[in-house]
Amino acid sequence: MIPVSEAIHIVKQECTALPKEDVALENSLGRWLAQDIFADCDLPPFDRSQMDGYAIRAADVAGASETTPARLQIVGESAAGRGWHHSMNAGEAVRIMTGAPVPAGADTVQKVELTREIDAKDVEILEPVTLGRSIVKQGAEIRLGDQVLDSGERLNAGMVAVLASFGYAQVSVGRQPRVAVMATGTELVAVDQKPGMDQIRDSNNFSISAYAQLAGATVERLALAGDNVETLKRQIGEASERCDIVITSGGVSVGVYDFTKLVLKELGAEFFFKKIALRPGKPTVFARLPNGTLVFGLPGNPVSVSVTFNLFARTAILGMQGAKQTELENRTAVLGKELNAAKKRESYLPARLRTNDEGELIAEPLKWGGSSDFIGFARADALAVVPADAGVIAAGTKVNTLLLP
Ligand code: AMP
Ligand code: MG
Repeated sequence: MIPVSEAIHIVKQECTALPKEDVALENSLGRWLAQDIFADCDLPPFDRSQMDGYAIRAADVAGASETTPARLQIVGESAAGRGWHHSMNAGEAVRIMTGAPVPAGADTVQKVELTREIDAKDVEILEPVTLGRSIVKQGAEIRLGDQVLDSGERLNAGMVAVLASFGYAQVSVGRQPRVAVMATGTELVAVDQKPGMDQIRDSNNFSISAYAQLAGATVERLALAGDNVETLKRQIGEASERCDIVITSGGVSVGVYDFTKLVLKELGAEFFFKKIALRPGKPTVFARLPNGTLVFGLPGNPVSVSVTFNLFARTAILGMQGAKQTELENRTAVLGKELNAAKKRESYLPARLRTNDEGELIAEPLKWGGSSDFIGFARADALAVVPADAGVIAAGTKVNTLLLP
């Protein structure tokens, strides 16, 4: 048995980033950047007005008030996209709109609410204004040549806007790993079948596909394989020719019909681990086939599948896309209910996070009926991490939690 942290370390070491590819900006959301992104212009590109009002000189209106306004001559108008490109002198004002360039000679913008226009020729300024007010200087947000996004970051909607601002119609991202998913188990029937005697419907293929897609992979679901050595071998072998990762569920423990490890061995796999000090998910397998395809053999229990996928397989899928951060994000939270530690194994238990009235993050453990309680798990948004051999962890104790995707 190896510790969880060591297993994650091994996964990271064994997966290298796939070649990058260029995608159109509109298809880049959720992908991982494979290039650094630089500003190709100053932002704002010119001194920009933040208000509708009048570009003026602050000194001209120093003594202004409602009863003794400063009267200035309107010499032009600067609108967004259509500036006034002359020089403004003392005693003059330029009508200006939000987003428009501030003309040379002006040093301040007074907002329209504090002015009174007279016959479209003059304007009365009703209050003094601090020098530089309502002007965003050229380059104040970003300078030409500055690095604005880093390779390895995942593109969100805001980042897509950043790419658009700097002219990236195409962007380099990590290629999406191709993942094949296969369930073992003679007891399984397809989702559209009514289970007969001793049978259950397959759910693991769907949860693994869903998690893999959230992690950025493209997914192929293989036919249900039963517990037949030849079928397992053929399906894993064939899928490994087309895919970067094969993820199986079930058949990795010590039952008479647990054939996954045997099959991988017969396919010539190199094993990196077969047993982790983890509850749930102890018998998780990680191996590589001779053709380079990685294989995760996850346990069959649906909760074990979710935990082990997100700790290990997800890390591989993100690593292959060149992600900077490949592990689940963590938060320290206060336990809402007591939890029991396991002997010799670290526990990763389903929980829901909430904040209490004091603003503290609380982890409420979900009903824990063992590793097959996946209805409870369906509403989990975090895993509460309980160290091995720690006895009873009382409510109110601070624990580490991992955020589920
Ligand atoms: P195994 O690891 O193959 O012994 O399976 C452990 C438990 O998980 C058994 O109760 C199985 O019926 C259940 N199980 C295995 N595969 C699936 C699956 N694809 N969908 C739902 N439950 C499964
Ligand atoms: Mg089985």
